[in-house]
Order: sequence, then structure tokens, then C-alpha cells
Amino acid sequence: MGAQEITREAVKQLDNLFDALSIVADDTHVFLCDMRYDYSRWSKSLVETFDLPSEYMYGAGAIWEEHVHPEDRNAYREGVDAIFARKRAGHDMQYRAKRPNGEYDICTCRGIVIQDEQGVPLYFGGAIRNHSQKSHIDTLTGLRNQYGFFADLQSYIRNKIPIRIGMIGIAKLTEINEVYGYHIGNEILQYFGRYMMDNVVNRGGTYRLDGSCFAIISTTQSEEKLLELYEDIRAHFRKGIKIDNMDIIIELNAGLISLDDFNVDDQTIYSCLNFAYEESKIKKHGDLVIFRNELKGDNRKELEKLHVIRASIAQDYKGFYLLYQPVVDAETEKLIGAEALLRWKNEEYGVVSPDSFIPFLENDPMFPELGEWILSTALKDSQKLSSYVSNFRINVNLSYAQLERADFTDVVWNTIKKAGFSPENLCLEITERCRLLDMELLRNVIVTLRAGGVHIALDDFGTGFSSVGLVKNLPFDTIKIDRSFVQQIEQDDKEKSLLIYFTDMAGIYGADVCVEGIETSGMRDIIRDYGIHSFQGYYYSKPITIEELLDKAKNGPDCFVKNNA
Ligand code: C2E
Ligand code: CA
Ligand code: CA
Repeated sequence: MGAQEITREAVKQLDNLFDALSIVADDTHVFLCDMRYDYSRWSKSLVETFDLPSEYMYGAGAIWEEHVHPEDRNAYREGVDAIFARKRAGHDMQYRAKRPNGEYDICTCRGIVIQDEQGVPLYFGGAIRNHSQKSHIDTLTGLRNQYGFFADLQSYIRNKIPIRIGMIGIAKLTEINEVYGYHIGNEILQYFGRYMMDNVVNRGGTYRLDGSCFAIISTTQSEEKLLELYEDIRAHFRKGIKIDNMDIIIELNAGLISLDDFNVDDQTIYSCLNFAYEESKIKKHGDLVIFRNELKGDNRKELEKLHVIRASIAQDYKGFYLLYQPVVDAETEKLIGAEALLRWKNEEYGVVSPDSFIPFLENDPMFPELGEWILSTALKDSQKLSSYVSNFRINVNLSYAQLERADFTDVVWNTIKKAGFSPENLCLEITERCRLLDMELLRNVIVTLRAGGVHIALDDFGTGFSSVGLVKNLPFDTIKIDRSFVQQIEQDDKEKSLLIYFTDMAGIYGADVCVEGIETSGMRDIIRDYGIHSFQGYYYSKPITIEELLDKAKNGPDCFVKNNA
């Protein structure tokens, strides 16, 4: 076809039209051909996805034809030929197009011909929608969705553009759906989406992530400005909005993170943003939580460190290891078990304690994998001890994100089976954070595990607001009293009274009591009078490696006995 070289003016005109088309193209790829020269411009996204020679091409129809699936090629060629032969003024077809990896994407291609006053075709242009590519638009609100969010976030990171990211969500949307129905829930989401779009306007991009969560990415606004914006939005929804003639009061939660370091990936940032958001929801009654403020160190280093830790999960758990803190019988001080405690270390950051990474990674999709590794490693290590201490019981900490998984109990059984472990020698520790889970689900998991012989402990008893409620509603084998309740016991009689109250309560529900944080013989002597079952604490041993523990245990179960005077 047209072999004539295109003029500069013609390219300029082509670009103008192309830009106009691109503005309205939304989620589709755009192509535009100047038919006089058979010279085209195609969207960068198409060029990249299908590895086309360039955005600007002579004879693009023939180049593209190479990518069209052989079975669809005839129809495609006929369609394009008919347009250039002026037999047709547009086309609308579906075909499969090949990507560089050899896979085919299903594409819909719609185009029209633009003619001059004499009816001479000038341009052939239109849009190609790639159905295999996930849409970037949320159908309910019309905002960019989480695929759009991650695509944009990745692009900011790639181009090293500093940004602030806010996550804003509607509190208790599930309850709203239950009370008013899904129809109203959807209207609230639409209202919220529109409100965000109208009020954020040119301050940033707005997104609907999933469920009740939205996001803003801003390159221009400071943290203070975004806080102001959030408070305005919050005030509006607090006053109540009118939906279907009802006034519905809506509370919000929000987290914020600033990004000016680009040695991190989008998932790490998302995990930290999510953490700030969860803090706002759980602890701050919806006040905006800025990620940095939740950390001791400097934000930049923390993010980078989390990124490296997170990446080690995928690198065969490089840097992760377990330490074991002995658990002794409160009466005899004989070794009866140990608690597995996670550590991570590398050259740059040294040994990192779990408190400074687990809370941030708990919501991460990678976390359950790490949880499985912890469980299987702890079981294997613990088996080495069984020849020295009969019925040695290993305690393994769980995070609520593991429990939430539908296949969690299967994972536990499979790991136990693979290791040839007896379930009675395993105790899984769950914390009060589990109250965030559906109670019925949690109860089922606990009942199932206990029926199979596994022990379940409630960790850090007393540190949350619903500890007593949990003990009342769920069957625990052991209650572990947090060390903050016994730290002052040698001086403070109130702590003694509390301890009596806790052990009485455990007794009512048939649970054993373990006291953590025994640091002195004085503490031990006071506490052992209260019908406690087991002790853990620096007085007996700090967390140690499996080798060190084996070395001790070789001397028999009395290896940690202090003096029984
Ligand atoms: P935790 O489960 O309450 O673990 C007990 C923590 O208290 C440990 O800190 C232990 O080293 C410390 N500790 C024990 N005895 C004493 C004592 O006498 N005095 C003082 N001052 N501290 C004592 P660590 O190892 O830093 O772990 C912190 C938390 O990280 C754990 O608290 C647990 O919530 C979490 N964690 C640790 N390993 C894992 C794991 O494998 N999975 C999950 N999900 N969480 C873990
Ligand atoms: Ca624990
Ligand atoms: Ca604990």
C-alpha cells in the first residue's frame, strides 16, 4: 500500500488526533492510521504488550496480521482490505493476538474510517480492547480499581516519583449491608466514590481497592494537606448522608504512607499502608494513622528493611530462623516444652526481632507461607528433643492471617503428617488479635484442631480488651499470662490479686495457666503458690538455638532446675 513517505505536518496532525482518541479510550488501546501514507501510530501499551517494532509504523496492518491467530487471520485480512478498498467504513471484530511468550489474548478491535469532504478516506482509527488484561476500572464506582492502583504505583516507583498514598475505608460496611441490604451498601459505595472524585479532584488519583476500601495517590499534597482533606471527608460522612430518603451516618478509617525511597516494591508498600489502615480501624477509632509514626526508626530504612525481609520469604526463607525458649513445669522446674520464636537476620540489618516485622507482614499474602515454614521447622527441631524429654511439647505462634485461610487446618494436618509428629505434642498459640476473625470460623478451627489432639493456647492474656470474652467463648487448653501482669509482683500486691483472679477464671473454664516473663527467683517463689502449671522466662533461659537447647536437654529434664529449696 502507500509507499510514499509521510510529511511532518501529516505526522503532527496524526499525533493530535491520536491524543484526542487516547483521552477517551479509558481501558482500551488506541490505533490510528493515516491512510494516504499507510502510516500509523499505536498505543505504547499495545506496542509493549505485543512487542511491536515501534509506536509509529508503516504498513501496521500487515505487521499486526503476523500476531493474529492463524485461524482468525483470513477474517482479519478481509476486514482490513475492505476498509482500504473503500468497501467498508468501519470494522468490529474479535480475534486472538499473540504475545511474545506465545500465548494468545482475545481482543476486540473496533475502528472507523474518517473521510474528507469528497469522501476520500483519510484516517482509519479505533480501539483494541484486550480481554485477557484485567480491567483497570471498577464497574460499581467508575474509579480505577486495584489493578489500576498497582499499575500506577509500580509506575511511580519505576520513575522514582515521590508520592503520598492514602487508604480510606468505610467502617462496618458489612453491618450496613446486613441492616439496610446490599442495594443500599452499593449506593453508599457509589456515593463515596463520587464524593472522593469530586473532592480530591486535581490533588491526586482516586481508586477503589476492594470491598469498602478506597485509595488516593498524590504527587503534590503534603501529609498535612492530606490529613486536612481526610478530616473534611470524614466530617461530611459523619453528619450522615441521604440514601433512599434515609440519613445514614458513616464512620471512616484511614492510613497514610509517604514514599520517597524506591528500593521497595509495591507489595511491601501496600502491606505497610494496610497496617496503618488497620491501626486506624482497631486502635484509633478512625483517626488517620501515618505509617512512619508507628515506627521507632526512620521510615525510609524501615520500608527498605521490610522489603528485604518480605523478599526473603520467596528466596527460600533466607535469613529466617527459629529460637526456642524453654517452658518448665511450675512445680518441679522440669523441662516440658519450648516456644518457637521467629528471628530474621542479614548482614546489613543484623538480627531483627519479630515484633518489628510480623505486625506489618501479617496481612501480606506471603505470610501464610512463612507460617507453614515456621510450623514444619519447629516440628522437625522438636522431634530431636523427644529422646531426651518424653512428651516434649512445642509451642508455635500463629498470626490471625493464617487462621483466616480456609485450608488452615489441612495445612496443620499435612505438616504434622509429613513430619510424623504426634499432635498431642504440639501447642498452637493464638493471640487476642484473633477476635478480628469471624468467631464461628475461629471456634470451628479450634474445635477441629483440639479434636485431633493439638493443644491450643491463648497468648498474651490480659493485654487486649476482650481476653475474658475469648476465654468464655472458646475452648483453650492453656492460658498464657502476659509478663506485664507479673513484672512488679514482688512489690505490688495488686498484681497478686489479679493473678489469683486470672487463675480462678482459667480454672472455671478448665484451662492450664502458663506465666511468661519469670525473671527472678523471687518472682518464681511468689507465683508458684497460685496453682500455675508452667513457667517461661529469662530466669530459666532466654530464647536459644535448637543446638543449645539440645545440649542442655542431653542432661535430662532437670537441666533448667534452679533450686527447690
Ligand atoms: P510472645 O509470643 O509473647 O513471645 C514471648 C516474648 O517474650 C519473646 O519475645 C520472648 O523472647 C520474650 N520473653 C520471654 N521471656 C522473657 C522474660 O523473662 N523477660 C522479657 N523481658 N522478655 C521475655 P520475642 O521473641 O521478641 O517475640 C515477640 C513476639 O513476636 C512474640 O511474643 C510473638 O507475638 C511474635 N512472634 C515470635 N515468633 C513468632 C512466630 O513464629 N509467629 C508469629 N505469628 N508470631 C511470632
Ligand atoms: Ca507466644
Ligand atoms: Ca506471650
